[in-house]
Amino acid sequence: MDCLFCKIGSGEVSSEIIYEDDSVKAFKDIKPSAPVHYLIIPKKHITSVVDLKESDSALMMQLILTAQRLAGEAGLLGYRLVFNVGREGGQVIDHLHLHLLGGWNDDNSLFGVRHPRLDK
Ligand code: 5GP
Ligand code: ZN
Repeated sequence: MDCLFCKIGSGEVSSEIIYEDDSVKAFKDIKPSAPVHYLIIPKKHITSVVDLKESDSALMMQLILTAQRLAGEAGLLGYRLVFNVGREGGQVIDHLHLHLLGGWNDDNSLFGVRHPRLDK
């Protein structure tokens, strides 16, 4: 299957790897929309949240726990975890991925990137 994130998962396509084990991989988003923007993927191909099955429960928990740990290691006090689902939900890459977004400082100006909730 010609899937970019399967190739990043296997290492066929390079990425800035933050963490990797047998079943998940975390890497920097190539076009970050926050000071810290990581993508956390299962190495196994799952197209989107729509395709999840009960048997993926442990793997999904691994994605979330990986995000939790990496956020702690990055010193993030708070962060956003996002799954875009389907084109209408903003999903562009059809391989399940969890966005970890954070690093906004207290006055939201240090990096020139405002917290999305403060833009309202
Ligand atoms: P989506 O919109 O599907 O939820 O998010 C896909 C994300 O993948 C986007 O934030 C985009 O910047 C990122 N992305 C697309 N192509 C690449 C790539 O080749 N390498 C990396 N590291 N990120 C990518
Ligand atoms: Zn894939």
